[in-house]
Amino acid sequence: MVVIGGGHNGLTAAAYLARGGAKVVVLERRPFVGGACITEELWPGFRINTYAYLAGMLSGKVIEELDLAQFGYRTIPHDPEGFLPFPDGRSITLWADTARTQKEIARYSTRDADAYPRYLEYWADILRLLEPLLGGPPPSLQELAEQFRGPENEGLLRDLVLRSADDLLSEWFESEELKAALGFSACVGAFTSPRRPGTAYVLAHNSVTELGGRAGAWGFAVGGMGRTTDALARAAQRFGAEIRTGMGVRSLLIQGGRVTGVETEDGRRVEARAVASAVDVKRTLLELAPAGSVSDEVIRQLRSFKTHATTLKFNAALRRLPRFRAAPEVPGPHHQASIMIGPSLDHLDRAYRMAGTGRLSNPPFAEILFQSAADPTVAPPGHHTITCSVKYAPRELVGTSWSDYRDTAAELVLTTLEEYAPDVRELVEHWQVVTPEDLETTLGMTGGSCFHGDLTPDQMFSLRPFPGASGYRLPVAGLYLCGSSAHPGGGVTGVPGRNAAQVILADLREGVGRAAP
Ligand SMILES: Cc1cc2nc3c(=O)[nH]c(=O)nc-3n(C[C@H](O)[C@H](O)[C@H](O)COP(=O)(O)OP(=O)(O)OC[C@H]3O[C@@H](n4cnc5c(N)ncnc54)[C@H](O)[C@@H]3O)c2cc1C
Repeated sequence: MVVIGGGHNGLTAAAYLARGGAKVVVLERRPFVGGACITEELWPGFRINTYAYLAGMLSGKVIEELDLAQFGYRTIPHDPEGFLPFPDGRSITLWADTARTQKEIARYSTRDADAYPRYLEYWADILRLLEPLLGGPPPSLQELAEQFRGPENEGLLRDLVLRSADDLLSEWFESEELKAALGFSACVGAFTSPRRPGTAYVLAHNSVTELGGRAGAWGFAVGGMGRTTDALARAAQRFGAEIRTGMGVRSLLIQGGRVTGVETEDGRRVEARAVASAVDVKRTLLELAPAGSVSDEVIRQLRSFKTHATTLKFNAALRRLPRFRAAPEVPGPHHQASIMIGPSLDHLDRAYRMAGTGRLSNPPFAEILFQSAADPTVAPPGHHTITCSVKYAPRELVGTSWSDYRDTAAELVLTTLEEYAPDVRELVEHWQVVTPEDLETTLGMTGGSCFHGDLTPDQMFSLRPFPGASGYRLPVAGLYLCGSSAHPGGGVTGVPGRNAAQVILADLREGVGRAAP
């Protein structure tokens, strides 16, 4: 069988399929595998996470079952977990240790510091219910509701799917500073404001992580995110999968409503009983499938699948680590944390509104990582890497194009960073900007959508990518979806690849490739 796309999900699917006895070939358009999960030596000695930069979502089952440690996958959990500097020189640091974080919070509100451990328990309850739903096959809405039976759990379900992150956090805390620190990831993977219903879910979704045995932890993949996909590729090959790079798929071959293989961009035909696409669902069914392969109703569903959540990356090589006004120590523990540039939920809301009008907000809302501060293997001795992910970058800019705006965007990022770390500009040795347009043209992500579709509750679980197609089978017999457009969505999780492989193997055993109804 054929897997289209050698991103981490295509590789995961290939590994499980080959392990299950299928003859698999992965066709990847780029000269190398990894998709959005790669590390490139952009400048001698500097290994940069071009796109994804944070580890923590990769399923423990995938790590264990494919024995990724054997293939070099290692991680370093963050501690501190988060650092939110404010322009006036104050900051909040979120530590792995609750008591230590409470001390930080008490500088803003003693009431909030007292509430924090209870909030963590409440959050742990939500995540305990959510985690198995995100790891396994997509639950129907009814099954989802059944997990949250009883008045107490119903309250959790309401919080999860109906409320905004701001409402939820405001019920617990009074400090705007703390709400900004805890609500930061409510907008990651979703083009929406933390004030809009559904963002409490996004916050929860981005908290289903585990690293170093600690639930909710994020961190670094040693050597860079690309080590994850290197390990997956090696596992897939060890089980017998073949990986062909530099081989893009131009179209799916479909006869009598059943897939029979693919045609590559250089005109070769590869026959297959089944095809699993790790490319996003819109590109798969609207571009790779010949016209007329799916019904008008499916096309309507696809067009309404939201692919707006994109991002802009500013990646650079630094002479040394910068000095933050809010934490002058160099190096300091904060350099190893996820650093949030977004001092209030208001700031995030404004950035969202600006993006809605086709503009990158000024100042932007961004997340910064210095991987080299925790993992010196990614930079020459004494030097450092910085990746800055600017959220709410609109795919289309009003009055200009991303290629014309690239340098202005870099300038905007640097000017913003200078507000917090005044010496940063003079430390930059090399830099690169990756725009939403680059994500679309280089990786093939429709709309530059980092997660192959927004992670809002209206397109999760059995609704992802649309009702009737959530079980990894697409509405063409023998055609499957194994990338981030499938349940449970984007992020370097490996779950869509693993789950899809299980469905495909079961169908192949029965000798049929069933279509979604
Ligand atoms: C800028 C950015 C930052 C992110 N940050 C994080 C993060 O810190 N942590 C995290 O967990 N997640 C992060 N994500 C999300 C995560 O990286 C993605 O959800 C995930 O990597 C997607 O994996 P995938 O295998 O489903 O798809 P992709 O990685 O998109 O892989 C699809 C593959 O298909 C190939 N392809 C496309 N068209 C064709 C074709 N016609 N023929 C053959 N091959 C084709 C592409 O080249 C690509 O290799 C980020 C994403 C982006 C873009």
